[in-house]
Amino acid sequence: MRVLVLSDIHANLPALEAVLADAGTWDALWFLGDLVGYGPDPVTCIDRIQALAAVALAGNHDWGVLGRIPLRTFNATARWVLEWTRNQLPASLWAYLERLPPQAEAEGFTLVHGSPRAPIWEYILDPYTAWENFAAMSARVGLFGHTHVAIAYHIPRPEEARLLIVEPVYNEPLSLQEGRWLLNPGSVGQPRDGDPRAAYAILDLETMTWTFRRVPYPVRETQERMRRLGFPPFLIERLAYGE
Ligand code: ZN
Repeated sequence: MRVLVLSDIHANLPALEAVLADAGTWDALWFLGDLVGYGPDPVTCIDRIQALAAVALAGNHDWGVLGRIPLRTFNATARWVLEWTRNQLPASLWAYLERLPPQAEAEGFTLVHGSPRAPIWEYILDPYTAWENFAAMSARVGLFGHTHVAIAYHIPRPEEARLLIVEPVYNEPLSLQEGRWLLNPGSVGQPRDGDPRAAYAILDLETMTWTFRRVPYPVRETQERMRRLGFPPFLIERLAYGE
C-alpha cells in the first residue's frame, strides 16, 4: 500500500495540483491538517481533499475558520485570510471541515496536525519537544505537520535515550523498519524552509519506507490570484521565497 501524505495545503490549488500530478499512483491519501488559511482557493482545495483523502485531519487554521479558535490568536495577516475564507465556504464544505478530527490512527500510525500530546497547537521544532512527544505516543511511528518544514525525528533504540534528527534527502526512501519515528512531510501550500517548491511524502507500507519529495509549482499563478483578491502583500511575497 502506497500512501500519499500531505499537510498544510493552505488553499494553494496550483501547489496541490502539482503534488497530485507528481505523486504517481497511490492507494490512500492521508492529510494532516490546515486545508485553509493563507491561500486563495479554499473551496476547490476542500473539494479535492474531501474526494480523495481516506484520512483527513483538522489544523489550527481550519479550526480558526470554524470559530473553534479565537481569531485574535492568529497574526493580523492570517486573521485577514481566515475572515475572508469564512465568507467563501458553502454550508456543505463548512460541514466537512467540522467533521475533521484533530488526530487519527491509520494502519498502526498516529496522525496529528501539531503533536501527539497537543494535536492542534504544539509545534515540534526541536529534539526536546520531539522526545516528549515520543513519550506521549503509543504508536511506533507518528506523522505530523504544522511547522511547514519537512523533517524526521528518530529514536534508533527505544531502550537508549538517544534521538536523531534526520534531514530530508529527497526521493531517497528512508527505512522505518527500526526504532521509532516522528515524520513531517513539510507543507504543500506554504513551505517555510527557504525552498518554495511544494513538499510532501510517500509512505510505502510494504517496504516500510518514507520518501520525502519536492515539486515546483507555478507560484506566480497563486500569487496572481491572491493579488486580484486583495490579499495582504506579505503573504503573496513569502511564497516566492518559501518562508
Ligand atoms: Zn499550517
